[in-house]
Amino acid sequence: MNWDEFPEWGARISDWAADYHKTIRDRPVRAQTAPGDIAVQLDQTPPEASTGMDTIMADFERIVMPGITHWQHPRFFAYFPANAAPPSMLAEMLVSTIAAQCMLWQTSPAATEMETVMLEWLRQAIDLPDGFSGVIQDSASSATLAAVLTMRERALNWKGNQMGLSGQPRLRIYCSAEVHTSVDRAIWVAGIGQDNLVRVPVKGALRGMDPDALRALIQQDIADGHQPAGVIACTGGTGTGASDDLAQVLQIARDFDLYSHVDAAWAGAGMICPEFRALWAGVELADSIVFNPHKWLGAQFDCSAHFLRDPSSLVQTLAIQPEYLKTHGHDNLINYSEWSVPLGRRFRALKLWFLIRSYGLEGLRTRLRNHVAWAQELCEQLRADARFDIVTDPILSLFTFRLTGKDDAAMIDYVNRINDDGRIYITQTRVDGQIVVRFQVGQFDATQADVNVARDVMIALI
Ligand code: PLP
Repeated sequence: MNWDEFPEWGARISDWAADYHKTIRDRPVRAQTAPGDIAVQLDQTPPEASTGMDTIMADFERIVMPGITHWQHPRFFAYFPANAAPPSMLAEMLVSTIAAQCMLWQTSPAATEMETVMLEWLRQAIDLPDGFSGVIQDSASSATLAAVLTMRERALNWKGNQMGLSGQPRLRIYCSAEVHTSVDRAIWVAGIGQDNLVRVPVKGALRGMDPDALRALIQQDIADGHQPAGVIACTGGTGTGASDDLAQVLQIARDFDLYSHVDAAWAGAGMICPEFRALWAGVELADSIVFNPHKWLGAQFDCSAHFLRDPSSLVQTLAIQPEYLKTHGHDNLINYSEWSVPLGRRFRALKLWFLIRSYGLEGLRTRLRNHVAWAQELCEQLRADARFDIVTDPILSLFTFRLTGKDDAAMIDYVNRINDDGRIYITQTRVDGQIVVRFQVGQFDATQADVNVARDVMIALI
């Protein structure tokens, strides 16, 4: 394709995108294809000759689209949302066009400088204290890995990268069983080992870490000659929205001089609404916090906002400066690749700039508030129906339930029946050993009518 042909295809694909979104309610939310259905339709060898865009686009519609699960469908109630609001999509089109690698300030000063300012906007929006600095990571998993590597280096007096872990005391990191598996993976990748991820029992309706148990486990490890390195807390855990009492948990981390990280990948977006901030009261005590604007806030994947009380610990852990990455003549510049594991980085701040300016914080708050209100309303409707048993109450817009008197196999059958029907999409999780339906409202175009459809489907398919 040459640049003369590009505008026609750009316009056609942009029309296709608008049409896709306007008619998306007519599609089943979850792909209805069987394993292998798509692969079998793809040529098994690469073409030697060029294929026209007309053919490629027709094949895209015919082969690819049936195998897509529609994350932008307003009746997507599974997992967590992955909203791609239109202004953020448009920014991404510009970013793809420019296709700059923004690893250093000089490789695109606008990207670095806008990233600094956008993270400052987000810091203010979620009301973190002045002084926290931010960086955009590709995913919350990467932010958590960066935090765990910082815990490791700090605990080893900054010698781990050089000397490895052998001959060192066992490093111990504490979290509850409600954290996302990205924490387990970070522990594996950092070489700390799953056996050194200490699970603190949870208590209360928010299923948060028991602070007394946390303190006792740290003390026991010290007595056993192990080396506590960090605490990972969560606000809005994946399964049920579990949230630690940050004021207590992070204070304990401080008492033992441990680095702390808060994973608020989903729930963090909710903190733009002052009335939800009680959920993470005490967060200002954290050393590191992540939330994903690419989940609930509307920024196209990928975009994880990672805030640091003092970025120098992270930079000391990750920075490496071969001659080819030096920026001579400019001291004290931020080179964000020194704040993250991957070197290459996309210009992710642009979509935040488009998104936040286009909606304004108040426009974003309205959406989130609606989602929370509709989820709570639906939960109360199901609670009033004897056929449903609410297992965990809504935390923001997420709650879980079982069908009264049904076993796990029947619950899985119920979830499959609903998703095969196609009008809505939900997923299951396990709470205290039992399968439950996990229901969250968070898609940007969802309306109360869509949530009512969910209620009707969930009743009809019992
Ligand atoms: N933390 C929590 C609480 C999550 O729910 C998720 C994903 O849903 C993650 C971390 C991982 O997010 P990411 O895909 O950005 O790595």
